[in-house]
Amino acid sequence: MEISEIQVDDYELVLRCRDKGSGLHALIAVHDTTLGPALGGMRMLPYASEDEALFDVLRLSRGMTFKSAVADTGLGGGKSVIIGDPKTLKSEALFEAMGQFVDSLEGRYITAEDMNIGIPDLEIVRRKTKWVTGLKREDHSSGNPSPFTAYGCVVGMRAALEKVYGSDSFEGKHVLLQGVGAVGGRLAELLHERGAHVTICDINEERVAELCNRFGFDAVADETHLDVECDVYAPCARGAGLNAETIPALRCKIVAGCANNQLLDPKQARDVRARGILYVPDYVINAGGIINVSCELLPGGYNEAVAMRRIERIYDNLKLVFEISERDDIPTNEASQRLAEDRIRTARTTS
Ligand code: NAD
Repeated sequence: MEISEIQVDDYELVLRCRDKGSGLHALIAVHDTTLGPALGGMRMLPYASEDEALFDVLRLSRGMTFKSAVADTGLGGGKSVIIGDPKTLKSEALFEAMGQFVDSLEGRYITAEDMNIGIPDLEIVRRKTKWVTGLKREDHSSGNPSPFTAYGCVVGMRAALEKVYGSDSFEGKHVLLQGVGAVGGRLAELLHERGAHVTICDINEERVAELCNRFGFDAVADETHLDVECDVYAPCARGAGLNAETIPALRCKIVAGCANNQLLDPKQARDVRARGILYVPDYVINAGGIINVSCELLPGGYNEAVAMRRIERIYDNLKLVFEISERDDIPTNEASQRLAEDRIRTARTTS
């Protein structure tokens, strides 16, 4: 097993981890631990080069620092990536080696699920280190994050409704969801329960039919979904859905959904704002999952009721973001960045 450090400005620690026997080649990035240990998922992808993997792990770990700072989880930001094809390279030896590398950081980096890494993989990692979150509920872990992410979106939408309409009630409000998978499907259900008129679209037609039959949602074809006029547009499928083509076509007052990296280019938040549409920064509203996972680290261990109460904080965090946006005359995504940086700076100066 070989471990070496890669020097990167503004990152606390970046490690290259190699294990010849299992073929493991991974990178672990600890971006910032000012607010607490660096928690962030482990992903596995057939990156074309180590540089490509490094770019990804640096970008993602930095993103986790800001996400956790705004979500007030008491955590810092980190991430790990395994370079290789998940279809062919996964093995017990590989995940055990990865567990040893994670363990060598003694809790400074805590791992979780991410792209192409599931609970069975993490259970193997867990044999070698206790610094693993997001396992099965039966193992005193926080379980599947999706319902918590969905609930966090409801909380975040309430803050946005309050800001735009002066009331956080969903009664009679029309919400259009793109993507009704694990998070979007549950979110649609929660909105329906709260009296919203829900319209859904998804490339998975069976899923759309199933949900419409169960809950009486309206459905629209994915290709034409932006023609639907609504109060809230919730991107819950994939990233980059907000771009130069779609932003002028939006027919909503609020964009608030769980998808990561909704803006193709973060600068385009200015274009959304110029149209008088409130954009709810994705990493603030979709923090329910990370807040839930962070509760595993609380003294006394995971407790769902505590997690739900902490997810409610998304409401206040968004109110702060909207205030900063107005005060400094900047888009909401820049305001959330400012809030995160302020919190980290304050923690540094008071510690
Ligand atoms: P999922 O795979 O369960 O659901 C995604 C849904 O989007 C699927 O039903 C899929 O058919 C649909 N879809 C994909 N491409 C589409 C397209 N072009 N048009 C319409 N529908 C499309 O994923 P999920 O866990 O629900 O996550 C959804 C988004 O939220 C992702 O961007 C994810 O990164 C983000 N997110 C998820 C969580 C979580 O807790 N699961 C947390 C934070 C962020």
